[in-house]
Amino acid sequence: MTKLRQLEEISRLLDPDAAQRQALLNQVIAYADQYLANLAAAPVYTAQPDNGRALYDSPFTEEGISLNRALALLQKNVDSTGLNTGSGRYLGYIPGGGLFHSALGDYLAAITNRYAGLFFGCPGAVRMENMLLRWMADIVGYPNTAAGHLSSGGSIANLTAIVTARDACGIEGEKIGRAVVYVTEHVHHCIGKALHVAGLKNSIQRIVPVDAGYRMDPQALEQAIIADKKAGLHPWLVIASAGTTNTGAVDPLADIGHLAQIHNLWYHIDGAYGGFFALCPEGQAVLQGLHLSDSVVLDPHKTLFLPYGSGAVVVKDRRKLYASFSANAAYLESALEDVEELSPAELSPELSRHFRGLRLWLPLKLLGIAPFRAALSEKILLARYFYEHIKQIDGFEVGPYPDLSIVTYRYLPKKGNPDQFNQRLMQAIQSDGRIFISPTRVNGNFVLRTAVVGYRTHLDDINIALEVLSQTAARLAGNGA
Ligand SMILES: *Cc1c(COP(=O)(O)O)cnc(C)c1O
Repeated sequence: MTKLRQLEEISRLLDPDAAQRQALLNQVIAYADQYLANLAAAPVYTAQPDNGRALYDSPFTEEGISLNRALALLQKNVDSTGLNTGSGRYLGYIPGGGLFHSALGDYLAAITNRYAGLFFGCPGAVRMENMLLRWMADIVGYPNTAAGHLSSGGSIANLTAIVTARDACGIEGEKIGRAVVYVTEHVHHCIGKALHVAGLKNSIQRIVPVDAGYRMDPQALEQAIIADKKAGLHPWLVIASAGTTNTGAVDPLADIGHLAQIHNLWYHIDGAYGGFFALCPEGQAVLQGLHLSDSVVLDPHKTLFLPYGSGAVVVKDRRKLYASFSANAAYLESALEDVEELSPAELSPELSRHFRGLRLWLPLKLLGIAPFRAALSEKILLARYFYEHIKQIDGFEVGPYPDLSIVTYRYLPKKGNPDQFNQRLMQAIQSDGRIFISPTRVNGNFVLRTAVVGYRTHLDDINIALEVLSQTAARLAGNGA
Protein backbone atom coordinates (compact mmCIF):
# COMPACT_ATOMS: atom_id res chain seq x y z
CA MET A 1 0.00 0.00 0.00
CA THR A 2 2.85 2.38 0.76
CA LYS A 3 4.41 1.61 -2.57
CA LEU A 4 1.11 2.28 -4.34
CA ARG A 5 0.71 5.62 -2.62
CA GLN A 6 4.25 6.61 -3.55
CA LEU A 7 3.72 5.66 -7.16
CA GLU A 8 0.42 7.48 -7.19
CA GLU A 9 2.02 10.66 -5.99
CA ILE A 10 4.51 10.63 -8.84
CA SER A 11 2.11 9.44 -11.54
CA ARG A 12 -0.34 12.20 -10.61
CA LEU A 13 2.13 14.60 -12.18
CA LEU A 14 0.58 13.40 -15.46
CA ASP A 15 -2.69 15.04 -14.49
CA PRO A 16 -2.23 18.76 -13.68
CA ASP A 17 -4.94 20.50 -11.66
CA ALA A 18 -6.96 23.49 -12.82
CA ALA A 19 -4.51 26.11 -11.56
CA GLN A 20 -1.53 24.32 -13.10
CA ARG A 21 -3.38 23.93 -16.40
CA GLN A 22 -4.20 27.61 -16.45
CA ALA A 23 -0.59 28.56 -15.88
CA LEU A 24 0.60 26.22 -18.65
CA LEU A 25 -2.08 27.41 -21.06
CA ASN A 26 -1.18 31.04 -20.47
CA GLN A 27 2.42 30.36 -21.42
CA VAL A 28 1.48 28.37 -24.52
CA ILE A 29 -0.98 31.03 -25.63
CA ALA A 30 1.65 33.73 -25.12
CA TYR A 31 4.14 31.73 -27.18
CA ALA A 32 1.63 31.17 -30.00
CA ASP A 33 0.59 34.84 -29.97
CA GLN A 34 4.20 35.93 -30.19
CA TYR A 35 4.76 33.55 -33.08
CA LEU A 36 1.76 34.91 -34.97
CA ALA A 37 2.67 38.52 -34.21
CA ASN A 38 6.16 37.98 -35.68
CA LEU A 39 5.00 35.98 -38.67
CA ALA A 40 4.47 38.88 -41.07
CA ALA A 41 8.03 40.17 -40.57
CA ALA A 42 9.86 36.89 -39.96
CA PRO A 43 12.09 35.41 -42.68
CA VAL A 44 10.30 32.71 -44.61
CA TYR A 45 13.35 30.47 -44.64
CA THR A 46 16.07 30.31 -42.00
CA ALA A 47 19.23 28.33 -42.53
CA GLN A 48 20.91 27.87 -39.14
CA PRO A 49 24.31 26.24 -39.04
CA ASP A 50 23.28 24.32 -35.92
CA ASN A 51 20.05 22.98 -37.53
CA GLY A 52 18.46 22.42 -34.15
CA ARG A 53 21.19 20.07 -33.01
CA ALA A 54 21.21 21.63 -29.54
CA LEU A 55 18.05 19.62 -28.82
CA TYR A 56 20.37 16.69 -28.20
CA ASP A 57 22.08 18.69 -25.44
CA SER A 58 18.87 18.50 -23.49
CA PRO A 59 18.28 14.76 -23.07
CA PHE A 60 15.25 13.20 -21.40
CA THR A 61 15.75 12.92 -17.67
CA GLU A 62 13.80 11.61 -14.68
CA GLU A 63 12.84 15.12 -13.60
CA GLY A 64 11.11 17.47 -15.98
CA ILE A 65 11.99 21.04 -16.91
CA SER A 66 9.80 24.13 -16.77
CA LEU A 67 7.51 24.95 -19.69
CA ASN A 68 9.42 28.17 -20.19
CA ARG A 69 12.63 26.26 -20.71
CA ALA A 70 10.91 23.78 -23.01
CA LEU A 71 9.42 26.62 -25.06
CA ALA A 72 12.84 28.24 -25.30
CA LEU A 73 14.20 24.98 -26.74
CA LEU A 74 11.30 24.83 -29.17
CA GLN A 75 11.76 28.43 -30.20
CA LYS A 76 15.47 28.15 -30.82
CA ASN A 77 15.75 24.68 -32.29
CA VAL A 78 12.48 24.07 -34.08
CA ASP A 79 10.54 27.22 -34.78
CA SER A 80 13.54 29.20 -36.06
CA THR A 81 14.95 26.62 -38.44
CA GLY A 82 13.99 25.71 -41.98
CA LEU A 83 10.81 26.72 -43.76
CA ASN A 84 8.22 29.01 -42.28
CA THR A 85 5.29 27.40 -44.08
CA GLY A 86 2.66 29.53 -42.36
CA SER A 87 4.06 32.74 -43.87
CA GLY A 88 2.15 34.47 -46.65
CA ARG A 89 5.44 34.79 -48.51
CA TYR A 90 6.03 31.03 -48.51
CA LEU A 91 5.46 30.07 -52.15
CA GLY A 92 7.50 26.87 -52.41
CA TYR A 93 6.54 23.22 -52.99
CA ILE A 94 2.85 23.15 -52.01
CA PRO A 95 2.44 25.64 -49.17
CA GLY A 96 0.72 24.52 -46.00
CA GLY A 97 -1.58 26.44 -43.77
CA GLY A 98 -2.38 25.82 -40.13
CA LEU A 99 -5.72 27.45 -39.37
CA PHE A 100 -6.06 28.85 -35.86
CA HIS A 101 -9.53 27.33 -35.57
CA SER A 102 -8.05 23.91 -36.41
CA ALA A 103 -5.60 24.32 -33.54
CA LEU A 104 -8.58 24.76 -31.21
CA GLY A 105 -10.15 21.61 -32.65
CA ASP A 106 -6.90 19.69 -32.13
CA TYR A 107 -6.67 20.94 -28.58
CA LEU A 108 -10.15 19.67 -27.82
CA ALA A 109 -9.56 16.39 -29.67
CA ALA A 110 -6.44 15.78 -27.59
CA ILE A 111 -8.13 16.72 -24.32
CA THR A 112 -11.26 14.63 -24.79
CA ASN A 113 -9.38 11.92 -26.70
CA ARG A 114 -12.58 10.55 -28.21
CA TYR A 115 -12.04 7.23 -29.94
CA ALA A 116 -12.62 8.02 -33.61
CA GLY A 117 -11.68 4.62 -35.01
CA LEU A 118 -14.94 2.78 -34.37
CA PHE A 119 -18.57 3.87 -34.30
CA PHE A 120 -19.09 2.10 -31.00
CA GLY A 121 -16.15 3.98 -29.47
CA CYS A 122 -17.54 7.39 -30.27
CA PRO A 123 -20.57 7.47 -32.57
CA GLY A 124 -20.51 11.26 -32.77
CA ALA A 125 -16.85 11.44 -33.82
CA VAL A 126 -17.40 8.85 -36.55
CA ARG A 127 -20.56 10.60 -37.77
CA MET A 128 -18.68 13.91 -37.83
CA GLU A 129 -15.92 12.43 -39.98
CA ASN A 130 -18.37 10.65 -42.27
CA MET A 131 -20.28 13.91 -42.65
CA LEU A 132 -17.07 15.68 -43.70
CA LEU A 133 -16.34 12.92 -46.19
CA ARG A 134 -19.87 13.18 -47.60
CA TRP A 135 -19.30 16.91 -47.97
CA MET A 136 -16.13 16.12 -49.93
CA ALA A 137 -17.97 13.52 -52.00
CA ASP A 138 -20.49 16.25 -52.89
CA ILE A 139 -17.70 18.61 -53.92
CA VAL A 140 -16.38 15.91 -56.24
CA GLY A 141 -19.88 15.11 -57.50
CA TYR A 142 -20.06 11.50 -56.27
CA PRO A 143 -23.44 9.87 -55.53
CA ASN A 144 -24.34 8.84 -51.97
CA THR A 145 -22.81 5.40 -52.50
CA ALA A 146 -19.44 7.00 -51.72
CA ALA A 147 -17.42 6.68 -48.54
CA GLY A 148 -13.94 7.62 -47.54
CA HIS A 149 -11.36 8.10 -44.89
CA LEU A 150 -9.65 11.10 -43.33
CA SER A 151 -6.00 10.10 -43.51
CA SER A 152 -2.76 11.64 -42.33
CA GLY A 153 -2.05 13.03 -45.79
CA GLY A 154 -2.18 12.59 -49.52
CA SER A 155 0.43 9.85 -49.74
CA ILE A 156 -1.45 7.49 -47.44
CA ALA A 157 -4.74 8.47 -49.09
CA ASN A 158 -3.33 7.57 -52.52
CA LEU A 159 -2.03 4.27 -51.13
CA THR A 160 -5.49 3.50 -49.74
CA ALA A 161 -7.08 4.21 -53.13
CA ILE A 162 -4.54 2.10 -55.01
CA VAL A 163 -5.00 -0.88 -52.69
CA THR A 164 -8.78 -0.55 -53.14
CA ALA A 165 -8.39 -0.42 -56.93
CA ARG A 166 -6.00 -3.37 -56.90
CA ASP A 167 -8.44 -5.54 -54.95
CA ALA A 168 -11.49 -4.40 -56.92
CA CYS A 169 -9.73 -5.27 -60.19
CA GLY A 170 -8.27 -8.51 -58.87
CA ILE A 171 -4.66 -7.60 -59.62
CA GLU A 172 -2.73 -10.30 -57.81
CA GLY A 173 -0.25 -13.12 -58.35
CA GLU A 174 0.57 -13.83 -61.98
CA LYS A 175 -1.58 -10.92 -63.16
CA ILE A 176 0.71 -8.30 -61.66
CA GLY A 177 3.41 -8.64 -64.32
CA ARG A 178 0.93 -7.97 -67.13
CA ALA A 179 -1.03 -5.24 -65.34
CA VAL A 180 -0.56 -1.73 -66.79
CA VAL A 181 -1.00 1.56 -64.90
CA TYR A 182 -1.20 4.80 -66.90
CA VAL A 183 0.27 8.02 -65.50
CA THR A 184 2.19 11.02 -66.80
CA GLU A 185 5.75 11.97 -65.92
CA HIS A 186 4.26 14.68 -63.69
CA VAL A 187 2.35 12.29 -61.42
CA HIS A 188 3.32 12.73 -57.75
CA HIS A 189 6.15 10.44 -56.64
CA CYS A 190 3.97 9.04 -53.84
CA ILE A 191 2.10 7.07 -56.53
CA GLY A 192 5.25 5.09 -57.32
CA LYS A 193 5.75 4.49 -53.60
CA ALA A 194 2.12 3.43 -53.21
CA LEU A 195 2.37 0.93 -56.08
CA HIS A 196 5.49 -0.44 -54.44
CA VAL A 197 3.88 -0.76 -51.00
CA ALA A 198 0.79 -2.29 -52.59
CA GLY A 199 2.96 -5.07 -54.01
CA LEU A 200 2.63 -3.76 -57.56
CA LYS A 201 6.24 -2.78 -58.10
CA ASN A 202 6.52 -5.30 -60.93
CA SER A 203 3.45 -4.08 -62.76
CA ILE A 204 3.97 -1.92 -65.83
CA GLN A 205 3.85 1.87 -65.43
CA ARG A 206 3.11 3.48 -68.78
CA ILE A 207 4.17 7.13 -68.99
CA VAL A 208 1.59 8.79 -71.22
CA PRO A 209 2.83 11.83 -73.18
CA VAL A 210 1.60 15.30 -72.19
CA ASP A 211 0.50 18.32 -74.21
CA ALA A 212 2.19 21.74 -74.19
CA GLY A 213 0.50 22.50 -70.86
CA TYR A 214 1.89 19.28 -69.28
CA ARG A 215 -1.55 17.65 -69.23
CA MET A 216 -2.07 13.99 -70.15
CA ASP A 217 -2.79 13.60 -73.85
CA PRO A 218 -6.00 11.51 -74.01
CA GLN A 219 -5.36 10.36 -77.58
CA ALA A 220 -1.96 9.06 -76.58
CA LEU A 221 -3.60 7.37 -73.59
CA GLU A 222 -6.12 5.57 -75.80
CA GLN A 223 -3.43 4.49 -78.26
CA ALA A 224 -1.35 3.10 -75.42
CA ILE A 225 -4.31 1.20 -73.96
CA ILE A 226 -5.17 -0.32 -77.35
CA ALA A 227 -1.54 -1.25 -78.06
CA ASP A 228 -1.16 -2.82 -74.62
CA LYS A 229 -4.34 -4.86 -75.04
CA LYS A 230 -3.11 -6.08 -78.42
CA ALA A 231 0.16 -7.10 -76.81
CA GLY A 232 -1.76 -9.28 -74.36
CA LEU A 233 -1.26 -6.95 -71.40
CA HIS A 234 -3.94 -5.93 -68.92
CA PRO A 235 -4.65 -2.19 -68.69
CA TRP A 236 -6.43 -1.72 -65.34
CA LEU A 237 -5.71 1.66 -63.78
CA VAL A 238 -5.35 5.24 -65.00
CA ILE A 239 -4.25 7.95 -62.60
CA ALA A 240 -4.97 11.56 -63.47
CA SER A 241 -3.74 14.56 -61.53
CA ALA A 242 -6.21 17.28 -60.62
CA GLY A 243 -3.35 19.69 -60.37
CA THR A 244 0.17 18.29 -60.61
CA THR A 245 2.56 19.33 -57.89
CA ASN A 246 5.16 20.22 -60.48
CA THR A 247 3.32 22.76 -62.64
CA GLY A 248 -0.25 22.75 -61.35
CA ALA A 249 -1.51 21.24 -64.61
CA VAL A 250 -4.93 19.60 -64.54
CA ASP A 251 -5.17 16.54 -66.76
CA PRO A 252 -8.25 16.45 -69.03
CA LEU A 253 -10.37 14.76 -66.38
CA ALA A 254 -13.54 14.25 -68.42
CA ASP A 255 -11.76 12.84 -71.49
CA ILE A 256 -9.75 10.43 -69.35
CA GLY A 257 -12.94 9.45 -67.52
CA HIS A 258 -14.66 8.50 -70.75
CA LEU A 259 -11.69 6.43 -71.88
CA ALA A 260 -11.55 4.67 -68.52
CA GLN A 261 -15.22 3.78 -68.91
CA ILE A 262 -14.86 2.51 -72.50
CA HIS A 263 -11.79 0.42 -71.69
CA ASN A 264 -12.95 -0.68 -68.26
CA LEU A 265 -10.12 0.81 -66.20
CA TRP A 266 -10.28 1.95 -62.59
CA TYR A 267 -10.05 5.74 -62.72
CA HIS A 268 -8.20 7.39 -59.85
CA ILE A 269 -7.72 11.13 -59.54
CA ASP A 270 -4.98 12.57 -57.36
CA GLY A 271 -6.44 15.90 -56.30
CA ALA A 272 -4.20 16.28 -53.25
CA TYR A 273 -3.12 19.71 -54.35
CA GLY A 274 -5.95 20.85 -56.58
CA GLY A 275 -9.17 18.97 -55.78
CA PHE A 276 -10.62 21.51 -53.37
CA PHE A 277 -10.41 24.24 -56.01
CA ALA A 278 -13.72 22.73 -57.15
CA LEU A 279 -15.20 24.85 -54.33
CA CYS A 280 -14.65 28.05 -56.34
CA PRO A 281 -15.97 28.93 -59.81
CA GLU A 282 -12.53 29.43 -61.38
CA GLY A 283 -11.45 25.99 -60.18
CA GLN A 284 -14.77 24.35 -61.00
CA ALA A 285 -14.29 25.43 -64.63
CA VAL A 286 -11.04 23.48 -65.02
CA LEU A 287 -11.97 20.51 -62.82
CA GLN A 288 -14.90 19.27 -64.91
CA GLY A 289 -15.02 15.49 -64.81
CA LEU A 290 -13.96 14.82 -61.21
CA HIS A 291 -17.20 12.88 -60.73
CA LEU A 292 -16.25 10.34 -63.41
CA SER A 293 -13.49 8.88 -61.26
CA ASP A 294 -13.78 5.79 -59.08
CA SER A 295 -11.62 7.24 -56.34
CA VAL A 296 -10.17 10.61 -55.50
CA VAL A 297 -7.64 12.03 -53.08
CA LEU A 298 -7.95 15.49 -51.53
CA ASP A 299 -5.58 17.12 -49.05
CA PRO A 300 -7.26 19.40 -46.51
CA HIS A 301 -3.77 20.31 -45.25
CA LYS A 302 -3.12 21.87 -48.64
CA THR A 303 -6.11 23.56 -50.18
CA LEU A 304 -8.32 23.76 -47.10
CA PHE A 305 -5.36 25.30 -45.23
CA LEU A 306 -5.43 22.83 -42.30
CA PRO A 307 -2.33 21.99 -40.28
CA TYR A 308 -0.32 19.04 -41.59
CA GLY A 309 -1.73 15.61 -40.92
CA SER A 310 -4.95 15.88 -42.94
CA GLY A 311 -5.55 14.02 -46.18
CA ALA A 312 -8.66 12.34 -47.50
CA VAL A 313 -9.58 9.54 -49.86
CA VAL A 314 -13.10 9.11 -51.21
CA VAL A 315 -14.21 6.02 -53.15
CA LYS A 316 -17.35 6.19 -55.27
CA ASP A 317 -18.52 2.68 -54.40
CA ARG A 318 -18.00 2.34 -50.67
CA ARG A 319 -18.27 -1.46 -50.86
CA LYS A 320 -14.93 -1.53 -52.67
CA LEU A 321 -13.22 0.41 -49.89
CA TYR A 322 -14.90 -1.73 -47.26
CA ALA A 323 -13.90 -4.93 -49.08
CA SER A 324 -10.23 -3.95 -48.90
CA PHE A 325 -10.05 -2.72 -45.32
CA SER A 326 -12.68 -4.31 -43.13
CA ALA A 327 -11.38 -7.00 -40.85
CA ASN A 328 -12.62 -8.95 -37.92
CA ALA A 329 -10.93 -9.40 -34.63
CA ALA A 330 -12.37 -11.45 -31.81
CA TYR A 331 -11.78 -8.71 -29.26
CA LEU A 332 -13.61 -6.16 -31.43
CA GLU A 333 -16.63 -8.28 -32.25
CA SER A 334 -19.14 -6.38 -30.17
CA ALA A 335 -17.63 -3.08 -31.29
CA LEU A 336 -18.17 -3.91 -34.97
CA GLU A 337 -21.76 -5.09 -34.70
CA ASP A 338 -23.42 -1.73 -35.18
CA VAL A 339 -23.51 -0.86 -38.88
CA GLU A 340 -25.44 2.39 -38.62
CA GLU A 341 -22.31 4.16 -39.87
CA LEU A 342 -19.20 2.69 -41.42
CA SER A 343 -16.17 3.22 -39.19
CA PRO A 344 -12.73 4.53 -40.19
CA ALA A 345 -11.29 1.22 -38.96
CA GLU A 346 -13.30 -0.61 -41.64
CA LEU A 347 -12.34 1.78 -44.41
CA SER A 348 -8.62 2.25 -43.90
CA PRO A 349 -5.50 0.49 -42.68
CA GLU A 350 -5.75 2.35 -39.35
CA LEU A 351 -7.43 1.33 -36.11
CA SER A 352 -6.69 3.78 -33.29
CA ARG A 353 -6.14 7.16 -34.81
CA HIS A 354 -6.21 10.88 -34.29
CA PHE A 355 -9.71 12.33 -34.22
CA ARG A 356 -8.90 14.29 -37.37
CA GLY A 357 -12.41 15.40 -38.11
CA LEU A 358 -12.60 18.01 -35.39
CA ARG A 359 -9.80 20.16 -36.84
CA LEU A 360 -11.84 20.49 -40.04
CA TRP A 361 -15.37 20.47 -38.65
CA LEU A 362 -14.70 23.31 -36.23
CA PRO A 363 -13.35 25.85 -38.77
CA LEU A 364 -16.05 24.90 -41.29
CA LYS A 365 -18.77 25.42 -38.68
CA LEU A 366 -17.32 28.60 -37.19
CA LEU A 367 -16.30 30.34 -40.39
CA GLY A 368 -18.71 28.84 -42.90
CA ILE A 369 -17.66 27.72 -46.38
CA ALA A 370 -17.56 31.23 -47.89
CA PRO A 371 -14.05 32.23 -46.67
CA PHE A 372 -12.65 28.97 -48.08
CA ARG A 373 -14.24 29.57 -51.48
CA ALA A 374 -13.01 33.17 -51.46
CA ALA A 375 -9.48 32.17 -50.49
CA LEU A 376 -9.36 29.56 -53.26
CA SER A 377 -10.60 32.04 -55.89
CA GLU A 378 -8.08 34.53 -54.55
CA LYS A 379 -5.21 32.02 -54.96
CA ILE A 380 -6.13 31.35 -58.60
CA LEU A 381 -6.43 35.06 -59.40
CA LEU A 382 -3.13 35.80 -57.62
CA ALA A 383 -1.38 33.12 -59.68
CA ARG A 384 -2.79 34.66 -62.87
CA TYR A 385 -1.67 38.11 -61.69
CA PHE A 386 1.81 36.77 -60.94
CA TYR A 387 1.93 35.12 -64.37
CA GLU A 388 0.94 38.33 -66.21
CA HIS A 389 3.48 40.40 -64.30
CA ILE A 390 6.51 38.10 -64.26
CA LYS A 391 6.04 37.73 -68.02
CA GLN A 392 6.54 41.46 -68.41
CA ILE A 393 9.73 41.66 -66.38
CA ASP A 394 12.69 41.90 -68.71
CA GLY A 395 14.48 38.58 -69.11
CA PHE A 396 11.83 36.26 -67.67
CA GLU A 397 10.25 33.48 -69.69
CA VAL A 398 7.02 31.91 -68.44
CA GLY A 399 5.68 28.36 -68.71
CA PRO A 400 2.02 27.68 -69.56
CA TYR A 401 -0.82 29.87 -68.28
CA PRO A 402 -1.69 28.43 -64.84
CA ASP A 403 -4.60 25.96 -64.74
CA LEU A 404 -4.84 26.54 -60.98
CA SER A 405 -2.38 28.38 -58.73
CA ILE A 406 1.14 27.32 -59.72
CA VAL A 407 3.27 29.31 -62.17
CA THR A 408 6.55 28.09 -63.69
CA TYR A 409 9.12 30.46 -65.16
CA ARG A 410 12.83 31.08 -65.51
CA TYR A 411 15.20 33.91 -66.27
CA LEU A 412 17.00 33.76 -69.61
CA PRO A 413 20.38 35.47 -69.21
CA LYS A 414 21.84 37.17 -72.30
CA LYS A 415 24.85 34.93 -72.05
CA GLY A 416 25.78 31.84 -70.09
CA ASN A 417 23.95 28.69 -69.11
CA PRO A 418 20.29 29.32 -68.13
CA ASP A 419 20.18 26.36 -65.71
CA GLN A 420 23.20 27.63 -63.81
CA PHE A 421 21.86 31.18 -63.75
CA ASN A 422 18.48 30.08 -62.38
CA GLN A 423 20.14 27.89 -59.76
CA ARG A 424 22.07 30.94 -58.58
CA LEU A 425 18.92 33.04 -58.71
CA MET A 426 17.13 30.44 -56.61
CA GLN A 427 19.89 30.40 -54.00
CA ALA A 428 20.09 34.18 -53.86
CA ILE A 429 16.34 34.38 -53.27
CA GLN A 430 16.39 31.72 -50.58
CA SER A 431 19.18 33.47 -48.68
CA ASP A 432 17.41 36.84 -49.07
CA GLY A 433 14.62 35.23 -47.00
CA ARG A 434 11.80 37.62 -47.89
CA ILE A 435 10.09 35.04 -50.09
CA PHE A 436 10.51 31.31 -50.52
CA ILE A 437 10.12 29.64 -53.91
CA SER A 438 11.27 26.17 -54.94
CA PRO A 439 12.56 24.90 -58.27
CA THR A 440 11.68 21.99 -60.48
CA ARG A 441 12.71 20.50 -63.79
CA VAL A 442 10.44 20.70 -66.79
CA ASN A 443 11.57 19.18 -70.09
CA GLY A 444 15.02 18.89 -68.59
CA ASN A 445 15.25 22.61 -67.79
CA PHE A 446 15.76 24.01 -64.31
CA VAL A 447 12.76 26.27 -63.74
CA LEU A 448 11.35 28.24 -60.83
CA ARG A 449 7.87 27.72 -59.42
CA THR A 450 5.58 30.03 -57.52
CA ALA A 451 2.85 28.07 -55.76
CA VAL A 452 0.09 30.27 -54.38
CA VAL A 453 -1.67 28.11 -51.81
CA GLY A 454 -1.18 29.65 -48.36
CA TYR A 455 -4.26 31.33 -46.92
CA ARG A 456 -2.10 34.21 -45.69
CA THR A 457 -0.81 34.92 -49.21
CA HIS A 458 -2.42 38.09 -50.57
CA LEU A 459 -1.72 40.69 -53.23
CA ASP A 460 0.98 42.49 -51.21
CA ASP A 461 2.94 39.25 -50.83
CA ILE A 462 2.79 38.56 -54.56
CA ASN A 463 4.00 42.09 -55.26
CA ILE A 464 6.93 41.51 -52.90
CA ALA A 465 7.68 38.25 -54.71
CA LEU A 466 7.70 40.04 -58.08
CA GLU A 467 9.95 42.75 -56.68
CA VAL A 468 12.41 40.28 -55.11
CA LEU A 469 12.57 38.24 -58.33
CA SER A 470 13.05 41.24 -60.57
CA GLN A 471 15.69 42.89 -58.34
CA THR A 472 17.64 39.71 -57.70
CA ALA A 473 17.66 38.64 -61.35
CA ALA A 474 18.77 42.11 -62.47
CA ARG A 475 21.52 42.15 -59.85
CA LEU A 476 22.86 38.72 -60.84
CA ALA A 477 22.60 39.50 -64.55
CA GLY A 478 24.28 42.88 -64.06
CA ASN A 479 27.12 41.25 -62.19
CA GLY A 480 27.72 39.21 -65.29
CA ALA A 481 27.05 36.21 -63.08
C1 LIG B 1 1.27 16.81 -51.85
C2 LIG B 1 0.82 15.87 -52.87
C3 LIG B 1 0.78 14.50 -52.60
C4 LIG B 1 1.29 13.91 -51.31
O1 LIG B 1 0.52 14.33 -50.26
P1 LIG B 1 1.09 14.40 -48.76
O2 LIG B 1 -0.06 14.97 -48.02
O3 LIG B 1 2.28 15.30 -48.81
O4 LIG B 1 1.43 13.02 -48.36
C5 LIG B 1 0.26 13.67 -53.56
N1 LIG B 1 -0.16 14.16 -54.74
C6 LIG B 1 -0.11 15.47 -55.05
C7 LIG B 1 -0.62 15.94 -56.38
C8 LIG B 1 0.38 16.37 -54.12
O5 LIG B 1 0.44 17.67 -54.42
